[in-house]
Amino acid sequence: MSEPITLRDLSEIPVERLRGVGPKKQKSLETVGIENLFDLVTTYPRRWVDRTNEARIADLVPGEEALVLVTVRSVTKRTTRNRRTMVNVNVGDGSGRMDLVFFNQPWRERQLKDGLQIALYGKADTYRGGLQMSNPVVDLIGDRTGRIVPIYPQSEKAQLNTWEMAGWIDETLRRCVDRGIADPVPKAVLAEHRMIARGDALAGIHLPEDMKQKERARRRLAFDELLRVQLVLVLRKRALERGQRGFEHTPDGELVQRFYDSLPYPLTRAQGRAIEEIFTDLANPHPMHRLLQGDVGSGKTVVSVAAMLTAVHSGHQAALMAPTEVLAEQHATSVRSMLDGVSVPDPDNLFGDRPLRVELLTNRVTGATRKDVLAGLADGSVDIAIGTHALIQEAVGFNSLGMVVVDEQHRFGVEQRSALRDKTADGRMPDTLVMTATPIPRTAAMTVYGDLDVSVLDELPPGRTPIVTMWASDESSEAGVWRDVRAEVEAGRQAYVVCPLIGESEKLEVASAEETFERLAGGELHGLSLGLLHGKLGADEKEATMNRFRDHEIDVLIATTVIEVGVDVPNATVMAILDADRFGIAQLHQLRGRVGRGKHASTCWLVTQPGDPESDGTNPRVEALVATTDGFELAEVDLALRGEGTLMSSAQKGRSDLKLASLRRDRNLVEIAREAAFTIVDADPDLADHPMIADELDMIFSDRDEEFLSRS
Ligand code: ADP
Ligand code: MG
Repeated sequence: MSEPITLRDLSEIPVERLRGVGPKKQKSLETVGIENLFDLVTTYPRRWVDRTNEARIADLVPGEEALVLVTVRSVTKRTTRNRRTMVNVNVGDGSGRMDLVFFNQPWRERQLKDGLQIALYGKADTYRGGLQMSNPVVDLIGDRTGRIVPIYPQSEKAQLNTWEMAGWIDETLRRCVDRGIADPVPKAVLAEHRMIARGDALAGIHLPEDMKQKERARRRLAFDELLRVQLVLVLRKRALERGQRGFEHTPDGELVQRFYDSLPYPLTRAQGRAIEEIFTDLANPHPMHRLLQGDVGSGKTVVSVAAMLTAVHSGHQAALMAPTEVLAEQHATSVRSMLDGVSVPDPDNLFGDRPLRVELLTNRVTGATRKDVLAGLADGSVDIAIGTHALIQEAVGFNSLGMVVVDEQHRFGVEQRSALRDKTADGRMPDTLVMTATPIPRTAAMTVYGDLDVSVLDELPPGRTPIVTMWASDESSEAGVWRDVRAEVEAGRQAYVVCPLIGESEKLEVASAEETFERLAGGELHGLSLGLLHGKLGADEKEATMNRFRDHEIDVLIATTVIEVGVDVPNATVMAILDADRFGIAQLHQLRGRVGRGKHASTCWLVTQPGDPESDGTNPRVEALVATTDGFELAEVDLALRGEGTLMSSAQKGRSDLKLASLRRDRNLVEIAREAAFTIVDADPDLADHPMIADELDMIFSDRDEEFLSRS
């Protein structure tokens, strides 16, 4: 008997081999990216119509959505007075008749031929005494029988319809029956998680007997997609670990203890947990590569300082890199004040201690100071260096750089990471901790940040007054916003006004900020001390304005999104974000994090224009912000609203796309897949005992995919 059929086998059979596919259909399929039988059987239905749930025309209730299966009776097309096309279709199902009307879809005339069976999904309304649906969702189902009818993606342009697709997939699966479809996933893994066999899953998704069977099939196939992604990531991670020598630090030393003792507060549980995870990594000889996720204000700095001190205590140096000079300076200030009075135990020193040396190195540090810092880095007398990425990019030499903290991951890629190795004399790789305030659901992070381990600070330090967020969606409530700002200023507080985001154009954005400034200065905020901050100002001017705001010479700072990161003025208690519906969830959340930093209660106003046609009276993003201040919850909503594609990079349109799996819906499957990937790889590091899996990965992922998946 011959071997079961693998995905590779299927991928080597071109679609022309199927009975119904001639040169013309082959071309059509090619335009939608289907060239072989693997492509074909992994083109999944986008819906399944359950005939037992369908309504009859006679049962339709005006105003309620329903699914009906009907036959087309007549089609007419005309052009309305305002030059729109209108296609009218009369349909019936034995229980009655109704009219459909399609606006601006002239092609419907060609698509909907007399006698055709279609599934309609939409809302029926009464019109001139009869029932009518306008612009319903139409699925052509052909003469398919059976209880569940799969509906495939159809392409008008490529002239492919769902029953042709169904027919070809049917034929393919029938031809596989004798040999069966191979299942490369270890039986134990499948059994542990109650997964059905791959062959059954393919049959079950394309030709389910009932919806339960379809669900079981989907779960297995989605698991396969996620497992493949995780295998690539885990293989890469383990290979990196093998190829790199790192530092073995000694955690929990006296220096770290002194630091804890000097803190005016206890660590949060989340901080304690993250530090434990980091210390475990630091103690072992593999280089750490860990992501520390935590909302604004969750206390990431403390965690990173504990990690850096561990390196110092172990006789090495640490570096903290920020994306901008301003942020580097802020970090230097806060780290220095946190470490004020903490000295390093030093047996060689007469007093048993030596002062800890923290230095800032940016392009603004020049002359003798710069020379001095550079010398200190080279001879090891600087313990902690804080700067921009220039710290590793330029010819800055360290004596022994053992630990690197990177604030905000997006500008720290694979190249930067490998540059780190060149910073150590013996080619050892420093441990790296990447901090991000952009909340990403944990499972999504596992996939997006591939080979990084993830620690999460999901708890804010106690004693914060939560920010109250309110939505001002009309003129009278906007007036209330300005009253609130004035009241807070009178009470001695300060405020931010964030100007509308205008597409990609910084010029327009600046113009709008200037306009807003003029309008408020001459109107609602007349008489208050206002400042203006935007991207076109020089660095010095920006800094001067920020300093004046910090020193409370300015009551209200009117700004573009330049204030998104790093600004920390605890006395600011109100923020008004204008045209809030133009911002994304993550950005609104970041902006809002600028208030609520002090002991006073804070408010964030989300101002939208009334009657914005897009907003339709609802705005799911603004509503989400009003409902919660939990960044992780918001990240989930964001993922739900934007879909998965945005996470996996939109340029990523290869076979590795997740077709069935959803990082949001299938969180549990992501965890299972990651765990299974570790089990498989740790028992068989180069997949020598799992040749079919190796071959599948090889076939499905291009080099580019792998590069993408393992980016950091
Ligand atoms: P993040 O970098 O995550 O935004 P920070 O590290 O800047 O947060 O900390 C925000 C503020 O919270 C700082 O003023 C810090 O001193 C304070 N903080 C950090 N950890 C704690 C804690 N465990 N208890 C109370 N306050 C804390
Ligand atoms: Mg911070």
